Amino acid sequence: MNKVNLMNLDQKQMEEFLLNIGEQPYRGRQICQWVLQKGVKNFSDMTNLSKQLRQKLAGLAELGGVEILAKQESREGNTVKYLFGYPDGQAVESVLMLHSYGSTACVSTQVGCRMGCRFCASTLGGMVRDLSSGEIYDQVLAIQKDTGKRVSHIVLMGSGEPLDNYDNSIKFIKNITAPYGLNISARHITLSTCGIVPGIKKLARENFPITLAVSLHAPNNKLRDHLMPVNKKYPLEELIPACREYADFTGRRITFEYSLIRDVNDREKYAEQLGNLLKGLLCHVNLIPVNPVKERDFHRSSWKNILRFKKLLEKYGINSTIRKEMGSDIDAACGQLRRKVILNSK
Ligand code: SF4
Repeated sequence: MNKVNLMNLDQKQMEEFLLNIGEQPYRGRQICQWVLQKGVKNFSDMTNLSKQLRQKLAGLAELGGVEILAKQESREGNTVKYLFGYPDGQAVESVLMLHSYGSTACVSTQVGCRMGCRFCASTLGGMVRDLSSGEIYDQVLAIQKDTGKRVSHIVLMGSGEPLDNYDNSIKFIKNITAPYGLNISARHITLSTCGIVPGIKKLARENFPITLAVSLHAPNNKLRDHLMPVNKKYPLEELIPACREYADFTGRRITFEYSLIRDVNDREKYAEQLGNLLKGLLCHVNLIPVNPVKERDFHRSSWKNILRFKKLLEKYGINSTIRKEMGSDIDAACGQLRRKVILNSK
């Protein structure tokens, strides 16, 4: 019989699980605290449970967990990239960024990715498998354990497309924001999507005060088809109305991510097109000097072009920020460390 990974349960399911094995439901609440709040990975550490119950649980359930396979720290010491390994041999990357206002964990939601964005290293080997909600949660617990620091902000922006693994991503958000979990404010959570239209519409109705970030990277279908194949399925004439619907429904400002790639999408005409596309939408644009990917021939825009792009957007009343570069010395582009460690060892 397969053991139940308790990391994948919410409090109600934990109570039901205990009930099903002939125990009192309040035990489920206690176990939830051990598992999701304290990150305990050994039943013997659950000191408010009887020895008998701990032994029973050890026979029926497991507590997940990840192993640190590799770790890189930036020279400035404000970014740490982890390669976490799961018991089945799969591995994903997570990044911890230390800011003046707290620490942000960037977590992965899938091993690999099927979306094929041309500037991304995570998709080079295709999609391997979804992560369960508990496996995503374990990345945050492991970062906290390794650093001794509380994670205050989360971005679902590592490898994988969160809306392609919808149920697990949503359950992860519910558990990590719950009082029985790490109680991280939903306002400190950002979910990043490459533009899965049905997922955006569904997410709007979840009623989470999280931030939705949409990776746009191109202001017209021709260029976006080339950079992000998902655009062929959900072109801009479907994506932008879905974003407007999301902003209207939730009243929350959407962040559009726009990686500036030299001579590809950083010209003046593209800034004008982007301005027209987003005019009147409750949004903010994050301009990202792209991290070069060895396997792709993409280079970072010049500083002059980045500033010109930003200025042109202002003409359309669109606020933008230039994302602070963090960890460009540590294979910071998503998927690079995994490729280096895992694929080079095969
Ligand atoms: S950018 Fe995100 S959605 Fe696109 S291929 Fe990479 S991991 Fe997947």
